[in-house]
Amino acid sequence: MSDQLSVNSDQSGGKRLRPWRCRRGHVLGMVERVRVNGRHVDRLLLYRRAIVEGEGAVEVMAVAQGTVLDVRCSICGAVRTWVEIDS
Ligand SMILES: [Zn+2]
Repeated sequence: MSDQLSVNSDQSGGKRLRPWRCRRGHVLGMVERVRVNGRHVDRLLLYRRAIVEGEGAVEVMAVAQGTVLDVRCSICGAVRTWVEIDS
């Protein structure tokens, strides 16, 4: 069994990414929907620093692979908990 992740790309090869925000709307990372062993799971690509959406370059610091992670927004200090979800 390959451990390669197949990205569900039903639209012109693009990955399914959506922003993951703190409660005040700063972008803490991106959520990527991937298929692992035939199941769809959401994976968090965590940014090194939170950004205001559409502003500046981002740098992915880590990929969340655990199930629960507390992430603090580097702009406003809000904490949001990431929970990996099967769906
Ligand atoms: Zn924030």
